[in-house]
Amino acid sequence: MKQVPFLDLQRIHREIRGPLEEAFHRVLDSGWFIMGPEVEAFEAEFAKYCGVKHCVGVGNGLDAMHLLLRAYGISQGDEVLVPSNTFIATWLAVSQCGAIPVPVEPRSETHNIDPDALAAAITPRTRAIIPVHLYGQPADMDTINAIARRHSLIVIEDAAQAQGSEYKGRCAGSLGDAAATSFYPGKNLGALGDGGAVLTNDASIADKVRLLRNYGSRIKYEHQDIGYNTRLDEMQAAFLRVKLALLDEWNAKRRTLAEIYTAQLQNTGLELPSVPVWANPVWHLYVVRSSNRDALRAHLDQCGVSTVIHYPIPPHRQACYSEYSSYKLPLAETLANEVLSLPMSPFLTEQEASHVVEAVRSFPGKGGKQQNEPLPDVH
Ligand SMILES: *Cc1c(COP(=O)(O)O)cnc(C)c1O
Repeated sequence: MKQVPFLDLQRIHREIRGPLEEAFHRVLDSGWFIMGPEVEAFEAEFAKYCGVKHCVGVGNGLDAMHLLLRAYGISQGDEVLVPSNTFIATWLAVSQCGAIPVPVEPRSETHNIDPDALAAAITPRTRAIIPVHLYGQPADMDTINAIARRHSLIVIEDAAQAQGSEYKGRCAGSLGDAAATSFYPGKNLGALGDGGAVLTNDASIADKVRLLRNYGSRIKYEHQDIGYNTRLDEMQAAFLRVKLALLDEWNAKRRTLAEIYTAQLQNTGLELPSVPVWANPVWHLYVVRSSNRDALRAHLDQCGVSTVIHYPIPPHRQACYSEYSSYKLPLAETLANEVLSLPMSPFLTEQEASHVVEAVRSFPGKGGKQQNEPLPDVH
């Protein structure tokens, strides 16, 4: 039986094995592994790509967000508005500063943070908003920025899933006061290990993050801050430079596959991704919704189609956030029960996408009607 992987990193790396090996040898032969020319070059290239003045490479996406919140002075007792249905790292970064993550529900169509709910959640202790460009689709940034301006709040994008994604023609990572991103191997721009970056036009924030990532030190053995050790390393930066050059091409392939899914999964009873006119998403994930999700997933598995649930348990239902256990966040909970991510990667073939479509269409349960079944009466 044909097997369709959810995401096959080996396939991606087979395509660029030569350039990756060349990058590896360049760093190996240089004898320089931390904070050197590769990191500097990557930071300049990625800042230019995103349309911001400063990029600071760090150890991972969680640290990128944590260091940014620190750089803005977010601390004990401050409230930070976060999506109720995000990956937990968004919340953890806030908690690591001693601040309080305040969950805000998403829009049901886009799964991105709901600006109306956002405005309603603001209190005198609110300091910042973290919109997440979930699945690679930008949040409604103009509306969010306008709310932030009215209340003097900082806006920090979580762009971990959105490298290359555009909002009204502007690149994710350049849409707020600053952004955190991740180069976890499975992201659209992924390293061969952990990595992350901070993006901003604010020179003083970039400088503060540079200090914090390196023991609070600017001059060797002189320490101004109680900092951390969380740096992007030379090897990962060299690999990322190879991949950055291909990012637009790879995102375009994801868009082609998403178009196939969206065209061919109409009238299957699944709720398909809804893309606002101002969004040009990069399809980190292609997420469908089904009230019969678990049976659909089992059926797809039987057909050789691997799927993943992003995410099965919302942060407020996690053991580490037991103080939120009485919170009622019905949308986050419903999404956790209904979302399913279909296979998506730049090297998924159109034949494989068609196999995924056929597998969904052959699902007998509710939420996956037969291909030629007439539409129910709609008025
Ligand atoms: C991956 C991810 C992160 C965390 O990035 P790491 O590099 O794994 O620490 C944060 N937020 C979102 C939305 C992510 O998808």
